[in-house]
Amino acid sequence: ATPTSIMVGTGRAAEMGVLFRKGDALQTLGQVSVVALDKTGTVTQGRPELTEIALADGASRAEVLSRVAAVEERSEHPIAEAILRAARVEGLNLPHVTEFTSITGYGVRARVDGAEVLVGADRLMAQEGIDTAALAETETELARSGRTALYAAIDGKVAAVIGVSDPVKPSSRAAIAALHGMGLKVAMITGDKRETAEAIARETGIDHVIAGVLPDGKVAAIEDLREGGGKLAFVGDGINDAPALAHADVGIAIGTGTDVAIESADVVLMSGDLRGVVNAVEVSRRSMANIR
Ligand code: ADP
Ligand code: MG
Repeated sequence: ATPTSIMVGTGRAAEMGVLFRKGDALQTLGQVSVVALDKTGTVTQGRPELTEIALADGASRAEVLSRVAAVEERSEHPIAEAILRAARVEGLNLPHVTEFTSITGYGVRARVDGAEVLVGADRLMAQEGIDTAALAETETELARSGRTALYAAIDGKVAAVIGVSDPVKPSSRAAIAALHGMGLKVAMITGDKRETAEAIARETGIDHVIAGVLPDGKVAAIEDLREGGGKLAFVGDGINDAPALAHADVGIAIGTGTDVAIESADVVLMSGDLRGVVNAVEVSRRSMANIR
């Protein structure tokens, strides 16, 4: 590889809003066969909204939402913001919370007004032995429509299932089609459950989904995707993407993402969407062609 062609390629990429932080990333990206995408904030907008609350028999919407929002006020997850906004819109007062715990990849729990409140994924409820049968069908329906579905349990009993919608970025589908057109395999890695992930994958044309991944499981998921020594690029935006960005052959951070993600990446996209990935691969391939 000549230093000149790398310099020219890096400069051309920068003009397109793609910053290569190391010259060897420009060379490696031209050789990748798999692009793995984080879901939330990468394929989707990462600004979820609460869209549904289905209550268990006898539960009150205001009481459930105010308790759930009170717990989520302590969480920094984007889901928490969606729930808090909904509670604010409904003008609810948030009760006092003690003993807050965040269970990474599962949900949150705390004591609210003397009641034990749990909010999170079905796997949190399973782990805590909560019987969710009364709302399980609704939860599955929500997930199949691409929602992140959360259960709320109060004092050991399921009280509600909450649907949270995180729309896909308008440009994701075309960018993924372009990556396919370049002969790349495109996969999505997410902590969400399979039904939710598959709905988003269908909407965007992604053909390979790894769902239910715990935050520290993204590196292992990448290993599963690397086929017979093929090279892989991972695209992410979040704090919990940092290990995967560092571990991938090429880590690509969305420029609108967190500082931790940007610092862990080899390539930073100035734009907030996946078109930058298409540009980055094109520039890399072209530079490689010049080198040879
Ligand atoms: P992702 O980055 O894909 O959203 P996470 O590992 O952050 O994955 O979360 C996985 C799942 O854990 C979420 O889909 C949700 O069901 C649950 N969860 C995480 N944090 C919270 C929270 N603050 N409130 C409710 N549920 C949560
Ligand atoms: Mg993300």
